[in-house]
Amino acid sequence: MTASLAIQDHIAIITINNPPVNGLGHATRTAISEHLRAAENNSDVIAIVLTGTGKVFSGGADIKEFGTDKTYAEPSLPSLLVQMDVCNKPIIAALNGVCMGGGLELALACHYRVATSAIQIALPEVKLGLLPGAGGTQRLPRLVDMKTCLDMICSGRSYYSDQLVETKLFDAFVPTTTQLLQTAIDFADKVASVRPILRVRDLIANQTITPETFATARANLQKKSKHLPAPFACVDALEASVKLDFDLGIQTERQLFQQLLQSPESRALRHIFMAERAAGKIADIDASTPLRAINSVAIIGAGTMGTGIAMNFANAGLPVRLLDLQEASLTRGLARIREQYQAAVNKGKLTQNECEQRCNLIVGVHSYDDITEVDLVVEAVFEDLAVKKNVFEQLDQTMKPGAILASNTSTLDLNEIAMVTKRPQDVIGLHFFSPANIMELLEVVRTKYTATDVLVTCFSLAKKIKKTAIIAGVCDGFIGNRMLEQYTKQAAFLLEEGCTPQQVDHAIEAFGFAMGPFRMNDLAGNDISWAIRKRRIAANPNAIYSKLGDRLCEMGRFGQKTQAGWYDYQANDRTAYSSDIVNQMIRSHAQDLGVSQRQISDEEIVQRLVLALANEGRKILRDGIAARASDIDLVYLKGYGFPIHRGGPMYFAESLGWEKVDQLLQQFQRGHRGQTWIL
Ligand code: NAD
Repeated sequence: MTASLAIQDHIAIITINNPPVNGLGHATRTAISEHLRAAENNSDVIAIVLTGTGKVFSGGADIKEFGTDKTYAEPSLPSLLVQMDVCNKPIIAALNGVCMGGGLELALACHYRVATSAIQIALPEVKLGLLPGAGGTQRLPRLVDMKTCLDMICSGRSYYSDQLVETKLFDAFVPTTTQLLQTAIDFADKVASVRPILRVRDLIANQTITPETFATARANLQKKSKHLPAPFACVDALEASVKLDFDLGIQTERQLFQQLLQSPESRALRHIFMAERAAGKIADIDASTPLRAINSVAIIGAGTMGTGIAMNFANAGLPVRLLDLQEASLTRGLARIREQYQAAVNKGKLTQNECEQRCNLIVGVHSYDDITEVDLVVEAVFEDLAVKKNVFEQLDQTMKPGAILASNTSTLDLNEIAMVTKRPQDVIGLHFFSPANIMELLEVVRTKYTATDVLVTCFSLAKKIKKTAIIAGVCDGFIGNRMLEQYTKQAAFLLEEGCTPQQVDHAIEAFGFAMGPFRMNDLAGNDISWAIRKRRIAANPNAIYSKLGDRLCEMGRFGQKTQAGWYDYQANDRTAYSSDIVNQMIRSHAQDLGVSQRQISDEEIVQRLVLALANEGRKILRDGIAARASDIDLVYLKGYGFPIHRGGPMYFAESLGWEKVDQLLQQFQRGHRGQTWIL
């Protein structure tokens, strides 16, 4: 039974018991409904306490039933809440732990709430492109001030019960769970005879609003979530709670919920949610594989990546040794780490104490002898195969047996790197993205030799350092950078055919990318991609690519750092100004190639860029480099700023239909540089 009923001192106690999160699936709703009816009909019972087992009151919808008919089967959550509203005996929620989504809506439909401290309270539906659809937007503002409601519902952020202790959400508060049930029973006894029963729906929604409250909330969202309808619908529903009576407010909430449920944005966000759940699964690996203990880490190379990677581990409380052969690089690296932590302190994101603790966890060293005993080494030296091979030879000679030897290479052949050691089974790719202490993505690259326990340990470690780990096989660029190559290639071809950098950037930014390819390259440094291109062309002289990027670099236009790239820049100003010199260079380059330039629509720009990604993604899947299409989406969403409301490049292609995609690809193949579209 997913919920049990017990009677103690005339109080019925209904306990939700549906591990792991007491999800409100159909069976649980049915059980609660039946127990409520039994308690109501039992003349011995004077009041009802509703609680949960373990550390969760209820985490809301049952993920296993997500998207199935069972989600809406009667008793649906809204009808269960109506049953609670009209119950002729008071219902007291005893909030023993996490109370989220439908779980919080269930608690809100109780007549009173008793809570313990430090429990998580949230209405996270907006993260799935939805809004709380079972009265949450109407009941919460009857107990909690509107500012908090707007923040909580429009962001989906979790609050701790202690932060809400001043609100009317809780009628009694106990410091520890051990006292909770008895306090709730005593409370139930005290209020059992209060009539009329105090229903949240009968309260007046919170009035701490000004005429600007909702307009300001919408204006703020316009900056943060302009492509997502759900946060705006949350504001509409909350506004209804103060402007309409409860039943009309509920109707409004229901209509908005239905609209959101059908919206492409919510479908995309739900796809991402499922993708995240699938990402950690590796088909041929037994989940019970024992892990290697990782209690200490060393990073080789104190450059841009090495320092960011070191911070990840220090943030998780792990001691880090940062090794660089150049004294100056090490000093600079350690100073950069301190600067970044100090900046977090200045922004109020970290205490000074935490800053000191984390800085102290990262110790600079110069010799391999100082790192022999660590459990994991992450190499982040120059992207040069000979240099990296040399580092791995040294690691092989010095590291203790069983240490995991990881490389942060972006493009190099990890099989080859593994083979310079006598322990290739311990070698793996851990490809962080820049800035490494911020970007959520981690490509975990499995070589031909990587041992399964090494792989599983790295996945577990990724969780500890709060990264989304995606498994990838060895190839040039793994998943993300291999696709990026096709994207940037198409972007340059678009210039040859008649676009300006700003037209391409503008079209893809309107699609939802935070930055188009040319602004992005100017930020990252055009010289970096130039160097990679040179290496690739040397390896494959017949490769088809646009030489525009090379021309740009030959002009010394490396991007923001030289105040000149695809755009012009001014001192201390990151604004990208259209560059006559570059636009002229593009035109004359096209003339030299004999390409007649034409007007290109924004739709074609977006399709060519996004389908360049999806087409390569499909090849990556065929080559077995990625485990599933949704992993490829996550790589792009978490590592490359693909707009979340579009669900990822593979999802975009699947939504268009691969048949349509293939038609478009055929069409593109007939154009300039069509040979690059080979399927
Ligand atoms: P970087 O030039 O900023 O830093 C490299 C550091 O390694 C320097 O401090 C250098 O002194 C040190 N170093 C060089 N050889 C060494 C050796 N033999 N032993 C010890 N230290 C040595 O480079 P980066 O941007 O941090 O890139 C490092 C690695 O990370 C590369 O493989 C790169 O492809 C990869 N990567 C970079 C990015 C990025 O955006 N920068 C993103 C993902 C991966």
